[in-house]
Amino acid sequence: MKLLSVIVPCYNEEENIRDFYDELFRNDSFFRDKEIEVEVIYVDDGSKDRTVAEVKKLHEEDERVHLLSFSRNFGKEAAIYAGLQKSRGDMVVMMDVDLQDPPSLLPEMYNYIEQGYDSVATRRVTRKGEPPVRSFFARMFYKIMNRISKTEIVDGARDYRLMTRQVVDAILAMTEYNRFTKGIFGWVGYETKWLEYENIERKKGETKWSFWKLFVYSLEGITAFSTVPLTVAAVLGALFCVLALCLIVVIIAKTLIFGDPTSGWPSLVCIILLVSGIQLFCLGIVGQYLSKTYMEVKKRPIYLIKEDI
Ligand code: UDP
Ligand code: MG
Repeated sequence: MKLLSVIVPCYNEEENIRDFYDELFRNDSFFRDKEIEVEVIYVDDGSKDRTVAEVKKLHEEDERVHLLSFSRNFGKEAAIYAGLQKSRGDMVVMMDVDLQDPPSLLPEMYNYIEQGYDSVATRRVTRKGEPPVRSFFARMFYKIMNRISKTEIVDGARDYRLMTRQVVDAILAMTEYNRFTKGIFGWVGYETKWLEYENIERKKGETKWSFWKLFVYSLEGITAFSTVPLTVAAVLGALFCVLALCLIVVIIAKTLIFGDPTSGWPSLVCIILLVSGIQLFCLGIVGQYLSKTYMEVKKRPIYLIKEDI
């Protein structure tokens, strides 16, 4: 028998807990045929609704269901990490509880693992049902990100992945505090098969990601997997130095030849504003990296467990 660990991060998802369980075990015959034992680890990310109670109810009915609950909301990345640490399976799969990651894909994914792939990942090819502004910014983010980072980050990639123990251990070895999962998957490498599917809209409840949250998350991704913005700051500085030097030469020459005093302080004000703006912008970039470094250096735990059943 092989053990498959299913990791399900949940944050205020009371109405989805049971639906997910039912949908997952609709594949029961597949699990039996392939002699796969299943453990489901619901990671409750500090929910304020009845999520924990729902999972406990399921646990009483079926001992394959486990619960990890956090002391507060730590974010999906932390929930995934906790689930991976808890998992004992020879294979591990991560899925959203809202059924946007269809469990019906599991047999196909498992096929590829049997064929020798180390991990099978999924990406959605459409962004149907998403606000157009969000899609636009998401596309732009992936474009910029892949330009400035050596780690490949696939557009539309979901966190729905089936991995072998080897890959899981590699991910667990990355103990960083700022966990940008999409980047971490890309960074560890291994042979990955990509499956594509149409975006499925969430069945019940609401998305936990506001535009602002996604924006902050994207900045985190950039600082975690690229240092190009720091180089941009340096290059901008150098460019402005060269420009200033040239202008100084021109002005001195002009004064010596024509003897006219340099006039016009409005232009000077504009230049000062522009240059100090750029300086502040670059300082901000440095600040971003500094703050991330600060958080890493503190070595705070990534999550805190309240209950482990
Ligand atoms: N989630 C979580 N912690 C959070 C936010 C979300 O564990 O702080 C879980 C959520 O319960 C769901 C998954 O992460 O299982 C994806 O969240 P959501 O469906 O809101 O994101 P979307 O699919 O809209 O990107
Ligand atoms: Mg969702």
